[in-house]
Amino acid sequence: MLEIRDLHATVEGTEILKGINLTINPGEVHAIMGPNGAGKSTLSSVLAGRDGYEVTQGTITFEGQDLLEMDVEDRARAGMLMGFQYPVEIPGVKNIYLLKSALNAQREARGEEEIPSPEFMKLVKEKLEFMRMDTSFLQRAVNEGFSGGEKKRNEILQMLVLQPKLALLDEIDSGLDIDAMKTVSQGVNSLRSENRSILLVTHYQRILNHIEPDQVHVLIDGRIARSGDKQLALRVEDEGYEWIHQESAA
Ligand code: ADP
Ligand code: MG
Ligand code: MG
Repeated sequence: MLEIRDLHATVEGTEILKGINLTINPGEVHAIMGPNGAGKSTLSSVLAGRDGYEVTQGTITFEGQDLLEMDVEDRARAGMLMGFQYPVEIPGVKNIYLLKSALNAQREARGEEEIPSPEFMKLVKEKLEFMRMDTSFLQRAVNEGFSGGEKKRNEILQMLVLQPKLALLDEIDSGLDIDAMKTVSQGVNSLRSENRSILLVTHYQRILNHIEPDQVHVLIDGRIARSGDKQLALRVEDEGYEWIHQESAA
């Protein structure tokens, strides 16, 4: 699904990612953890194709295609969907409009007809209910005046409607109270399937009590210093990151 090889990237001339290697197979959920400033969001941004991040070395392939040759829209059409630490506000654009046009763009890329409105409404209402969101949500402008928890729910709602092949979620748990975290986790867990992959980027271990990753990677100073299963996340929760730092320096 996703293969990252020796990825180096700079932000404003400073090297932030210093040789990342990561392979995510279909059906797998991977978590990337790491201290503040390690480069987690930089990695997400590079995958998303955001401006301002320059890849200076290495490769990223998504389903066999060179991801670095694809623009943001190409990536979305190919089935890669991002939710973000600070989801953007789009003043004046209603949620429902964004969802529908994103879904239709995806269908168009697959050579399918636009989704009929009744079918779309049925789909969205079902997903809203699952995310415990009110239908009034659809008429609000994208993320405008949303609370932190509402933005996160909305991100997952988009994922549930668009059903990406690869879902990338950065700091999905930041600013969530315990109930919102459960709902968001349930949403993510319902996305799990044998042909979909999920990459969760998180500073904290706690979300991993709700979403069990197949692999956990600890990113320190622009490199994956250690990979393991969920036990690694638990050890990080107990002991922090310093031991990994020391072992990788030794
Ligand atoms: P994390 O998400 O792991 O906390 P980031 O990827 O956000 O880390 O940041 C990694 C490093 O890159 C930090 O030192 C940060 O200051 C720097 N950085 C990130 N984005 C920018 C930017 N737009 N301009 C300058 N420096 C940046
Ligand atoms: Mg940060
Ligand atoms: Mg970050």
